[in-house]
Amino acid sequence: MVHPQVEENWGNVNPIGLRYCYYEGKRCAETLFFDYRRQHQLNIKIARIFNTYGPRMHPNDGRVVSRFAVQALRNQDITIHGDGRQTRSFCYVDDLADALVRLMQTPDEVTGPINLGNPVECTIEGLAEMIIALAGSSSKITYVSLPADDPRRRKPDISKAKDLLRWKPTVPLEEGLTKTIEYFRTTIQTA
Ligand code: UDP
Repeated sequence: MVHPQVEENWGNVNPIGLRYCYYEGKRCAETLFFDYRRQHQLNIKIARIFNTYGPRMHPNDGRVVSRFAVQALRNQDITIHGDGRQTRSFCYVDDLADALVRLMQTPDEVTGPINLGNPVECTIEGLAEMIIALAGSSSKITYVSLPADDPRRRKPDISKAKDLLRWKPTVPLEEGLTKTIEYFRTTIQTA
């Protein structure tokens, strides 16, 4: 895997793997967008969104930020998959929304694909520790089995977004997590 991930990386996918329905779905959508542009001159914009989080996530969507935040607020065990040394790069929703609006405002010839995300890389274990601290939680970390095909590292190269959209993320992880945890504190039952 090319690291950080650039738009020109065509990927190498196993069409029958556990996660690949999701991956191929996204790939197919991009293919269709470009065919519609070629065949029907449709204006298109393709954003490749990397791990985004923030208030109003669903508490049971199974994604790591919502899962850990809810577990921490309930003082339940934090379930790290594998050794927790895999990385992700988390983008706060307000930064992502700003980038999407900017992308929609670009001239017609800007089609993407264009990476949108926050390039600050964080281990899943580091994320768990940060969420426990910010939530003031007594949760303990527990290590459970790693799902098949779980990517080891994820970090977007956002040079194109910086250049074409004059954009870069501004919300640090700690600040975004604080707002997200506060959101879950007011919406989920913790007792
Ligand atoms: N993860 C974890 N515990 C959980 C949920 C997720 O350790 O309870 C890990 C997951 O295995 C992956 C990372 O957190 O390594 C990000 O998972 P998520 O599903 O949020 O995003 P994606 O894997 O699609 O980037």
